[in-house]
Amino acid sequence: MHVAIVGCGTAGQAASLFLHRAGHRVTLFERSSTLAPVGAGLLLQPTGMQVLDQLGVGDRIRHLATPVERLLGINDAGRTVLDVRYADLAADLVGMGVHRGGLFATLLGETERVGIGVLSGVSVVRYVVDTSGRVELFDVRDVSLGTFDLLVVADGAKSLLRGQSKHVTRASLYPYGALWFVADDPGLAYGRTLSQVYRDTRGMIGFLPSGRVAPHEHPTVSVFWSVRRDQFDAVQAAGLDAFKASVRSLTDRADPVLAQLSSTDQLIGAAYMDVVMSRTCDGPVIFIGDAAHAMSPQLGQGVNLALLDAHALARSVADISPDDHPTPTRIAESLIRCDRIRRANVRYYQLASRWLTPVFQSRWSLLSLPRDACMGPMCRVGLLRRIMLESLVGIKTGAMPWSRDLGLMGWPRHSSALSH
Ligand SMILES: Cc1cc2nc3c(=O)[nH]c(=O)nc-3n(C[C@H](O)[C@H](O)[C@H](O)COP(=O)(O)OP(=O)(O)OC[C@H]3O[C@@H](n4cnc5c(N)ncnc54)[C@H](O)[C@@H]3O)c2cc1C
Repeated sequence: MHVAIVGCGTAGQAASLFLHRAGHRVTLFERSSTLAPVGAGLLLQPTGMQVLDQLGVGDRIRHLATPVERLLGINDAGRTVLDVRYADLAADLVGMGVHRGGLFATLLGETERVGIGVLSGVSVVRYVVDTSGRVELFDVRDVSLGTFDLLVVADGAKSLLRGQSKHVTRASLYPYGALWFVADDPGLAYGRTLSQVYRDTRGMIGFLPSGRVAPHEHPTVSVFWSVRRDQFDAVQAAGLDAFKASVRSLTDRADPVLAQLSSTDQLIGAAYMDVVMSRTCDGPVIFIGDAAHAMSPQLGQGVNLALLDAHALARSVADISPDDHPTPTRIAESLIRCDRIRRANVRYYQLASRWLTPVFQSRWSLLSLPRDACMGPMCRVGLLRRIMLESLVGIKTGAMPWSRDLGLMGWPRHSSALSH
């Protein structure tokens, strides 16, 4: 099959590698002319790491990452709101705090090594499925970019191509987002803990140890400062001293990173979207990653889900040999299979992040009262702690304490559960 993949983010890179490995002809289109990552550090879950292992880059990522053993959230009165440790689920389990640059460069390096063609500086703005079931892509000047058997749309939360699907049921912005920056953390002062401090629901700072961009670089820590989206400019305009004073009023742990800020221009705004598609595929077209299900990063699952999508896509088309000329019906059936495989897992995280986000980031400050009273004790109750941890590692498929085995990640067979 000749496959077009739009978007060279994690979802697009991982899908390209899987499909290329299966022998398909892959063309990867990327809007940016310079192939470089934009974004803060992120927490990779054990599920996502398994996918990276299957792509053969897991150990390279581990080499760059800072292992994260614990999530700790306290409120401004010092009360513990959240305290979970991966080891409570399985002794050797950790998350991986990675710098987006390290993840991007590693996947891109692999893409280049295996010889996948990346067409950068090409914005794909429209597709047309012709009468034979093949899909043609067009750029901003409405010039045809070619015709393909399969289109994988991985163009991120603000996907242009998503507008062409009739299955989008929600694509909205959250009122709150974050201003973030990445600082050096040479002495690993922030340890192996993702730590957060909350002031009711209207203030929050998070410190995520996020590894190195490259092996010879310093380890980093990514700092997230919760702000209403419409206040990004005002915070930046108020100046550095005002920003530092706000941060210091919430926590005394920020001085090593604040010392590295010389201008509010270093604070980058990130808005969060909530995207739901009733079906992620239509004929020869499938949406994966944030294009299909962008969500607030409250649960730290976006990249993880993108990797699981790419893995499920590869499994779903595994019975199509690269030398086949599959009928459009056969391709469409494979994509429907992929949509079904991913549905329960994605739905769980969409709902969970939609419910949880206002509890941590909203103007409804009273929500912090039950949160601060209940969540800390819940972390100590065996079954509830397990549900929280299973949610964290990315395996949940429903609210029940057990998760459906999607063939992606059976639990507790977590170390070998991704089927090839
Ligand atoms: C502040 C913040 C913190 C986060 N923390 C975490 C975390 O801890 N853990 C986690 O797992 N996730 C986290 N996420 C979510 C995560 O960043 C995303 O879910 C993930 O990057 C989605 O990957 P993607 O490949 O789907 O999209 P993207 O990474 O957005 O990639 C899309 C690509 O498509 C390209 N593109 C766009 N339009 C076009 C076009 N028309 N033509 C061609 N190319 C195009 C873009 O340039 C881009 O390269 C966080 C997000 C934010 C905002």
